[in-house]
Amino acid sequence: MLDKATQDWKSLAGSLDIEGRAFINGRYQDALGGETRATLSPGDGRRLADVANCGIEDADNAVGIARAAFERGVWSAMAPADRKMVLVRWAELIEDHADEIALLESLDVGKPIADTTAVDVPSAVRTIRWSGEAIDKVYDEIPPTPGNSLALVQRLPLGVVAAIVPWNFPLSTTAWKLAPSLATGNSVILKPASNTPLSALRIAGLASEAGLPDGVLQVLPGPGGSLGRHLALHDDIDGLTFTGSTAIGKQLMQCSGESNLKRTFLELGGKSPNIVFADANLEKAASFAAIAVFYNGGQTCTAGTRLIVEENIRDEFVDMVVAKSRHWMPGDPLDPATAMGPMIDATQLKTVVDYVDIGRKEGASLVAGGKQVLQDSGGCYHEPTIFDGVDNGMRIAKEEIFGPVMSVIGFKNADEAVAIANDSIYGLAGAVWSNDINTAHKVAAAVRVGTMGINNYFGGDITVPFGGFKQSGNGRDKSMHAFDDYTELKTTWIEFD
Ligand code: NAP
Repeated sequence: MLDKATQDWKSLAGSLDIEGRAFINGRYQDALGGETRATLSPGDGRRLADVANCGIEDADNAVGIARAAFERGVWSAMAPADRKMVLVRWAELIEDHADEIALLESLDVGKPIADTTAVDVPSAVRTIRWSGEAIDKVYDEIPPTPGNSLALVQRLPLGVVAAIVPWNFPLSTTAWKLAPSLATGNSVILKPASNTPLSALRIAGLASEAGLPDGVLQVLPGPGGSLGRHLALHDDIDGLTFTGSTAIGKQLMQCSGESNLKRTFLELGGKSPNIVFADANLEKAASFAAIAVFYNGGQTCTAGTRLIVEENIRDEFVDMVVAKSRHWMPGDPLDPATAMGPMIDATQLKTVVDYVDIGRKEGASLVAGGKQVLQDSGGCYHEPTIFDGVDNGMRIAKEEIFGPVMSVIGFKNADEAVAIANDSIYGLAGAVWSNDINTAHKVAAAVRVGTMGINNYFGGDITVPFGGFKQSGNGRDKSMHAFDDYTELKTTWIEFD
């Protein structure tokens, strides 16, 4: 039985007018070849919309339009204070349509409506507003050169930027890419993930409404293997910003080298360590251990999938986390009480099911979950799952599962905890829990990751950079540092007689 709030979201979903056409030159348009692809809701498998399936000719057309807009200077040469006004207005328009966009995101991604309304949409609004408000406060440099000279060091836009984003946080990631790339004056082509194109298409129209000149932003839905790769190899694209898997990230670096050496910035996978010492606030640490891996169904690059626990509290702490995991039993994304939704699709669900099987065969001990559930819904749901007795060499501890699966590993002292944490090809995020300031800081400093929490998990804000060490990527999203990825530094050297 649906409660009233759920019923409201369901009826609103029935009345949504969903845009599936590509956004090119300030207008929604079909793919040039007229092809479409259905986008399905992971919550119940229903068809949400037929979406333009853009190909290579659409990409070439969009690149030409983006290049022409850049050369005309309609945006690239606009005063930063004026670009600011457009971005701030865009953020306001997204906020005005917050419920509609949150609902689209819940339907398309399967994210709980409680999350899309409280996290995804507000975070996108804040990212765009913050980047807009920042851009007319960024000063260029005059370095301390010899007395008979003056050097001007300016930040200039790259030109045409391609952004390729994944399906797990489509709206937030789109905002993390578009806000700084547009704020710095680039023209941009965004390729959303094939599974989740809807929110990016919706906000593109709002950008035009906010005053973004035609041709500055195009959104091209289409297959990564052909359209995405073509963008990565394109000689008239100056910069590529990517969030997605490490495997595809490696290919994109090669594409850059094989083509025009376009600036290529990557935000990739993770297998993040969450280290708990016996002297921590165990109640809070247990809640966050569950949040760290079950939030968004574990389909989070920074998920704290390796819970590394001091041996003398291990049994007690694992019991606490198992108890917390019950809160994360999956449910209908449109029910405001749902904490965890479905996996994005049947392929991802199968990956999770296969890894649970691998964990069992590797000899880890399954202490919670382990099964697909809610099969009658038509969606792809999996229980929150915990393996204890995991060795860091097992595949479930080394490979990114991208599902609600936690691996618990024990340690005897801080050095061993750090060694386990760092024994990974990834270096995206992590956390340490301890009430001893020395332990907490020493461990936090020694773990090689881009973002480390002390007594929190998923802490962060638009004001701080986000990105990975090692095979979790290069470059940084968010904060003023994101502007570096979308600009070239140009020196003008002047000498006096
Ligand atoms: P993915 O398979 O790498 O796909 C990401 C994007 O790349 C999609 O738009 C995809 O298009 C496109 N793509 C696929 N093959 C391509 C190719 N050969 N050339 C160019 N583009 C291509 O990743 P995903 O499964 O969508 O997302 C999950 C991954 O993203 C995880 O590894 C996760 O850790 C990572 N992630 C990282 C961060 C971070 O900030 N570090 C944040 C979120 C997610 P299609 O959809 O058409 O395949």
